[in-house]
Amino acid sequence: MAQTHILGYPRIGAQRELKRAQEAYWKGEIDQRALLAVGAQVRSQNWQAQQAAGLTLTTMGDFAWYDQVLNHSLMFGAIPERFAAGAADNKLDQYFRVARGRAPSGEPVAASAMTKWFDTNYHYLVPEFTADQSFSLDAEWLLAEVREAQNLGHNVKPVIIGPLTYLWLGRGVDNALDLLPKLLPCYIELLEQLANAAAQWVQIDEPILGLDLPALWRNAYAPTYEALAKASGSKLLLATYFSPLRENLDLAFGLPVDGVHIDAVRAPEELVPAAALVRDDQVLSAGVINGRNVWRTDLARWQRALQPLAEKLGERLWLSASCSLLHSPVDLETETALADTDKHKLAYSRQKLDELNALQQAVKPGAEALPTIAQTQSRSEAEVRAELDNTWRAQKFAERVAVQRERWQLPQLPTTTIGSFPQTDVLRQVRKQYKSGEIPAQDYNDHLRAEIAEAIRRQEILGLDVLVHGEAERNDMVEYFGEQLDGFIHTGNGWVQSYGSRCVKPPIIAGDISRPQAMTVQWSEYAQSLSKKPVKGMLTGPVTILNWSFPREDIPRAVSCLQIAKALRQEVLDLEAAGIGIIQIDEPALREGLPLRVSGHNDYFAWAVGCFRYTCSEVKAETQIHTHMCYSNFNSIMDAIVALDADVITIESARSDLRLLQAFAGEEGGYPNEIGPGIYDIHSPNVPERTELVNRLRELLKVIPREKLWVNPDCGLKTRSWAEVGSALLNMVEAARTVRT
Ligand code: GLN
Ligand code: ZN
Repeated sequence: MAQTHILGYPRIGAQRELKRAQEAYWKGEIDQRALLAVGAQVRSQNWQAQQAAGLTLTTMGDFAWYDQVLNHSLMFGAIPERFAAGAADNKLDQYFRVARGRAPSGEPVAASAMTKWFDTNYHYLVPEFTADQSFSLDAEWLLAEVREAQNLGHNVKPVIIGPLTYLWLGRGVDNALDLLPKLLPCYIELLEQLANAAAQWVQIDEPILGLDLPALWRNAYAPTYEALAKASGSKLLLATYFSPLRENLDLAFGLPVDGVHIDAVRAPEELVPAAALVRDDQVLSAGVINGRNVWRTDLARWQRALQPLAEKLGERLWLSASCSLLHSPVDLETETALADTDKHKLAYSRQKLDELNALQQAVKPGAEALPTIAQTQSRSEAEVRAELDNTWRAQKFAERVAVQRERWQLPQLPTTTIGSFPQTDVLRQVRKQYKSGEIPAQDYNDHLRAEIAEAIRRQEILGLDVLVHGEAERNDMVEYFGEQLDGFIHTGNGWVQSYGSRCVKPPIIAGDISRPQAMTVQWSEYAQSLSKKPVKGMLTGPVTILNWSFPREDIPRAVSCLQIAKALRQEVLDLEAAGIGIIQIDEPALREGLPLRVSGHNDYFAWAVGCFRYTCSEVKAETQIHTHMCYSNFNSIMDAIVALDADVITIESARSDLRLLQAFAGEEGGYPNEIGPGIYDIHSPNVPERTELVNRLRELLKVIPREKLWVNPDCGLKTRSWAEVGSALLNMVEAARTVRT
């Protein structure tokens, strides 16, 4: 009979109890013992859930107080010098200082950088390596958890990140592979310790096998895993996910490991080749339950696909979720906000365990055929691309910019902001009262209008050139639109960890998307009525709405994206008709839907960029379209950014080095339209000095022509206080004036 297991489970707790405990501990409200107790509770529930669902092995070792990559850095002693002080007496606080710069004990210090885990919205702490890096093993945390699980009666399978993926994720040295000879002994020792702890299986995650790996890295696999296999007393399961293995498929199965996991949701075409490659002494773990989405699995489809494999492989076929369930919400049972009809179509992590169990029964020889789910008739991605073939505006930028300058008469180096202004406690309170029905819609609207009027008044006093209404009505830039568009549903407890204690609750795209009525026009119109200066309309772009939601699985993502783009195009035209002459369409998540394999980039951008352009392809030449992007690596996607054809792009850059700007400013191949590189970091409470901003602008003018340069902060200001925002913007406006003259 096929076996069942998972690659990992969410660790936030069914009611986000770990988040609450972490935050209480950081604030000094609870002590470390209380925090440790909550962690132990979450772990035991996670293990219990796996056992109760009848999984063959209990996967563990995936728990983290903040991040699993940071767990490894600590385990291998790869902690930068600046965090050393006080570490000996309080290991957990040292860990938190790396993660967030401060902890109840120890001095505050600059935290390590965080970045996205492959193509997910989970952020890990980037290992910081130095050329003379050394490693030393301290696996006590992990070993203690192994004992803890064994004491609770579990047949454990600890999970660790493989040495090559771990090195790949780090920064600070030219070639992290050079560090492998120093790191490998730690892994060998770790595997020995796990075997001594009686772990029959160890899961080693090597997701970079799904990337376009340089030959040097590919070639490192065989010798590395030979060394590990020789030392390991446990069986090794090599786990890959998020991407097809392609040229690395043979490589993976050729390694001296006892099993290989593939992501059959992302690469269903690799299931049959994998079954042909798997050796007699190996297991094939098929990741068929989607770990990245909330929909119930079409088990009949997998029953048909897997039955022949089950027959051939028997116990050597393992059934699993595609990737760790870290990226799924915890338990549908705790869901309060959804209608039963919707709930029945969904599966959160706990329900996915039951699906594995059902599938295990269904692939047994002679099992009854499961009822098939009717397929949705849909257009293909290629058809969407074809429809988006020509979405360019009627006039080229050169013609548009002339009419726009004529219309707006803006000064050189025009000043603006990215959209949101502080979301004050009062505002949050009023929204909460409105949502819970304590105050009527009219009162809420009145309050929002007052917020908008106040934002306009302040911007007038500051002397900004292009104003914004401030986004007081939005709690979240995607949820706000999702709530107004038909086709979305919203969960009450569909939380997924984003980083540390932070969780997000993405809306679910559950049907065809359309716009029943205007979404932002009343706010923008009102704001514009209060000022003679232009007030920007403010929308979230189609690609960002798609990428920050759970997508449908029955139709291609491109099809939903075009539906959103159609709804947004109506909104754009309504804004234009209402006299809003500058409209910003934010796309901070443009990069996020990008396939991990470069070969898929062109097709993705063809529809993603096409959808963005579609939203504004019908506006008049005199209407100025802005877009905004932040916190992503723009360099490799410059062509796509240019192809958005926005009249103005504002980008985050204050925290990045000049390399980013060079991509935008390059002599040829740079950004051809107008551009506002953020001149100060809005994530810091520090108010930037005027001279600092003047210098920054002068630096920028060395690479960006004067007539193209806009002056603005990095990103939206909603997380700041009005006091900070007022002083910072005043300095920014004055800096622009200084540089103008
Ligand atoms: N307009 C949004 C804001 O100012 C943009 C946010 C973002 O880029 N993530 O808040
Ligand atoms: Zn931003």
